[in-house]
Amino acid sequence: MEFAQIKQTVAQLKDDMLNAAIELGSIPGVNPRMGGEGEAKRVAWLQAALDGHGIPYTVFAAKDSAVPEGERQSVIVRIAGSEQTDKTLWFIAHLDTVAPGDPNAWHTPPFKPTIKEGKLYGLGVEDNGQAVISIMYTCAQMKRLGLQPKCNIGFLFAADEETGSQYGLRALATAGVFGPRDEAVVPDCGSSEGTFIEVAEKSLLWVEFTITGKQAHGSMPHLGINASSVGCRLGVELEDTLKEKYAYKDALFDPPYSTFEITMKHANVDSPNVLPGRDVFAMDMRILPKFSPEEVLDTINRVISKYEYRYNVKISCAYPQRADAAPGTSPESAIASTLTNVLRAGGIQAYCGGIGGGTCAGILREYGMPAVVWSTLDELAHQPNEYLIIDNLVQDTAVFLAVIQEYC
Ligand SMILES: [Zn+2]
Repeated sequence: MEFAQIKQTVAQLKDDMLNAAIELGSIPGVNPRMGGEGEAKRVAWLQAALDGHGIPYTVFAAKDSAVPEGERQSVIVRIAGSEQTDKTLWFIAHLDTVAPGDPNAWHTPPFKPTIKEGKLYGLGVEDNGQAVISIMYTCAQMKRLGLQPKCNIGFLFAADEETGSQYGLRALATAGVFGPRDEAVVPDCGSSEGTFIEVAEKSLLWVEFTITGKQAHGSMPHLGINASSVGCRLGVELEDTLKEKYAYKDALFDPPYSTFEITMKHANVDSPNVLPGRDVFAMDMRILPKFSPEEVLDTINRVISKYEYRYNVKISCAYPQRADAAPGTSPESAIASTLTNVLRAGGIQAYCGGIGGGTCAGILREYGMPAVVWSTLDELAHQPNEYLIIDNLVQDTAVFLAVIQEYC
């Protein structure tokens, strides 16, 4: 079937999909480590919806004492392939959401999805409600159209994505749910026109530096050690050193190089006549997969030791966040090239690229699985007044069906 034809059949389901998105968005699924009760009620809704479509599924449970049920459930639907039965193409969505944040920042109630001008507003409707509904209807439509894939197709509705996937994707991977030939589409990030296919991530590293000198009166600097003065020099030298040592251009990424930026600077003393005895600042670093965060930390350590020795200060480091990038997925992999071709055939000038980090596709890549992140959306995740564009439910579902038809 041509893409336009597939899209036409999916368009007939638009109202059903919208209603499903509204129902799902009305059920709180706030991650327990962000103050909620988890996604259990959404899992129950999904099971009822799959039952309604006559789609069989299995449930994978991971023990977690942070939720009332004592476990987190992910739902798996499998459709057997006709030829390559040792290979599965996965479509992966997550059921949990972040917390709504400041209620006053919302113009519509976060847990009461509201339609306005072709958009549906509500917490989690885009992240990751759009994907949950799209892949559920991809599955329902496969059944309706009698699509018989050559390899297995898996639809995974995962728990616990928003705080690191320990009780979702990681637990599933550790349990051996994924096979060595599997590939995946993760619709958890994207672009407004659907042109961007994410295939790689930079490593993410935040370092907070604390310089301890000795406080003194501003008029008697010889009695103290000015931690702020040392901090300023250290920050600049770190930026310069790292940018020079790890200068390398990889056109897959935007920007195409590693970034090392001084960001947060903590308040120090209350008065201009006090020589600060303590200085704290942070750096945000996004490191191309070509370099390891470990070697960057080693370079930082060398600069720090020089400063401690030269200025007689103590410098300590904390690491509020670190996510080491797995090797990227090749744009030539079957899934990346199939998705690119399907989109181009549909008139969308798709291209593969990398981002500054990090999505749960990184977890799959850690396990050696080629995984692409793609969706058509305005990137409203984790923001007040999050919305999904209703037409994108149809678009994404049609693209997934076309990918299944082309793949293998
Ligand atoms: Zn998400």
